[in-house]
Amino acid sequence: MRSKILVSACLMGFNVRYNGTKKGSLQQTLAYLQQEQRLVIHCPELAAGLPVPRSPAEIRDGNGKDVMGGAAQIVEDSGQDVTAHYQLAAWLALKTAQSEGCCAALLTDGSPTCGSQQIYDGTFSGVQRPGMGVAAALLEANGIRVFSHQQIAELVAFIEEREQTDDSM
Ligand code: SF4
Repeated sequence: MRSKILVSACLMGFNVRYNGTKKGSLQQTLAYLQQEQRLVIHCPELAAGLPVPRSPAEIRDGNGKDVMGGAAQIVEDSGQDVTAHYQLAAWLALKTAQSEGCCAALLTDGSPTCGSQQIYDGTFSGVQRPGMGVAAALLEANGIRVFSHQQIAELVAFIEEREQTDDSM
């Protein structure tokens, strides 16, 4: 069976990021996977009802796992606590991935939702630190392998290995 992949909508050219821009550099690389109907294009923040454009938000004093466990907050640059919206975004990403049968996710790095290698440090000064956003952390915790948009080669290798294993059974 073909492996399906949850992919951040902003990687596919949809203008859904907080500042209304898209991440277009991977579009050609992803076109083949899309042609094969493997991609489930999803924006967790949009699904949770957040508007475009929206205020930038960062995780304060923790990472995505801490936020999902209630031990850290996500705040906008105004200081407004938007933790509940982002927790909902994470649950909706997991529900979508599970209902579509995704085994992996390719997510935009740096986001408090989709970040998987890096997130911003919570000071709104443009500084990143290692960490995961809420959706990435929840997907990983539920057995869905998460790759950042800079790990397309690793994702392809993961899919190939998984399907070779399936074929040999
Ligand atoms: S990084 Fe994730 S939550 Fe943010 S705009 Fe892209 S898909 Fe939506």
